[in-house]
Amino acid sequence: MWITIALMQWGFVIRLKRLGLLGLLCALSACSSSPRLIDAKSDRSAAASPYGATALAGNGYGFAPSSPSKSPTSLYREVNVKKAYIPKGRHGRKVRRSMRPSYITIHSTQNFSSGADAMRHSKALNNGKLRAPKRRGGNRIGYLTWHYTTDEYMAVQHLPTNEQGEHADFDGPGNNYSVAIEMCEHRGNSRSATIERTAKLSAWLMHRYNIPLRKVVPHYHWRRKGLTPEHKNCPHYLLDNGHPGAKWQWFLAKVNKHYKSISVGSPNLIPLPTAAGYRTAVAATGRPAAAAVRRPAPAPVVKRKPAPRPSARYHTVKKGDTLYALARRYKTSVGAIQRANRLSGSMIGIGKRLRIPLS
Ligand SMILES: [Zn+2]
Repeated sequence: MWITIALMQWGFVIRLKRLGLLGLLCALSACSSSPRLIDAKSDRSAAASPYGATALAGNGYGFAPSSPSKSPTSLYREVNVKKAYIPKGRHGRKVRRSMRPSYITIHSTQNFSSGADAMRHSKALNNGKLRAPKRRGGNRIGYLTWHYTTDEYMAVQHLPTNEQGEHADFDGPGNNYSVAIEMCEHRGNSRSATIERTAKLSAWLMHRYNIPLRKVVPHYHWRRKGLTPEHKNCPHYLLDNGHPGAKWQWFLAKVNKHYKSISVGSPNLIPLPTAAGYRTAVAATGRPAAAAVRRPAPAPVVKRKPAPRPSARYHTVKKGDTLYALARRYKTSVGAIQRANRLSGSMIGIGKRLRIPLS
């Protein structure tokens, strides 16, 4: 509603209508973690999850674990990602704000016009058509931007994952730390295929950036300071009465299933969502990025040089070794070993000397 009014004031409605993008309003609103979700009462009733799904009790997610069966590359291929970045230095990328992806934020476009598929959104973003009123404490750049749009056929990538988008909560942690996926919901688009593709893309991103499942969140998760309601009903069809509930847990279960199917990943590497974990996450990201990015004053020069600490050790691959087993043995992660050795998949040749980073 806020958006609609704002857009009318700015005369954008007609323009958006012409583009078939009138419904594309989701990303304008935003959210940070809700105090409502972390109060003592919620904690008691929602011990297993930030969003209180009882299905999370017991062994985790209440569904049978699948055996690892595909490489990250084959999962990525299934997502069918087309890269069509917004031109660098223009429109929503006029200013580059760097980001280390720590969360995945799921939106839906609320754009029901026919033909408003992923490519159509990409064109609008790339032509600078998705404007938003820039204001102090609100939208920082005068444009809406996000990382991926998914539909029944493909995912189009609009921004590199190390750049912040403008889709969730203005200068809050949602924009500062999360990779955003918008799901299309135009007429004729298969919702189930779109959800499936989004779950696969989320799983791949979790693997790629070591993001735990509890940090795959709905737009609702982020608090939009100064807007009512502060927590947006987005993605609306994965929320129950505007709040994360059974539908959201159903989606997370899908994401987790795909994550577990990655052959170099491991279900054990996924921390289960707990109320304590949620509070930690909130504490870790409660500050806007500006504060986090601001460097402290340089430390005074230390006279005595400390003994250099080894930064890695090495392991020569033997028959039967897997990245997962090595990660467990050396108390590191699969991703860390992959990065240290520039491995893109799970294959490791016998006799290869791997650098094992020390955590
Ligand atoms: Zn949204």
